[in-house]
Amino acid sequence: MRIGIGYDVHQLIENRKLILGGIDIPYHLGLLGHSDADVLTHAICDAILGAASLGDIGTHFPDTDPRYEGIDSQFFLRAIAKKVKELGYTIGNVDSTVIAQQPKLAPYISQMRSELAKTLDISVTQISVKATTAEGLGIVGKEKAIVAQAIACLAKSNSIGL
Ligand code: MG
Repeated sequence: MRIGIGYDVHQLIENRKLILGGIDIPYHLGLLGHSDADVLTHAICDAILGAASLGDIGTHFPDTDPRYEGIDSQFFLRAIAKKVKELGYTIGNVDSTVIAQQPKLAPYISQMRSELAKTLDISVTQISVKATTAEGLGIVGKEKAIVAQAIACLAKSNSIGL
């Protein structure tokens, strides 16, 4: 069994969509980035890549590549899931936390889990999404950014599970 962690941060600005876990969340601010800037999906990508020692999302999908401008980050996650499966891994579970001062994310958690499970081709029970605030502190608390953290567990069906 192998585990990996992922972390990401994106700046919150005007005139951008707020996409988290593949879900378009109505809000007056959105995340800045080369792709759709889905910070949660990016953290999950890095957790899965980390568990397989395959580098990070920037290695696989450089943010200088015009092909990825404005792209739905589910594309990255789907490609990464396919890659680790080709290497013989199965995804055990993924846990994640979004740290955002606003908006309240509770109404969207179950949609995010469904979308991420669909992308990863796993059961919704294998993916957890949690949300918390920064208690008004720092860049997240002042609504300058949203942060996401994730952890993923992969298993390989060989004798030592690696
Ligand atoms: Mg990112």
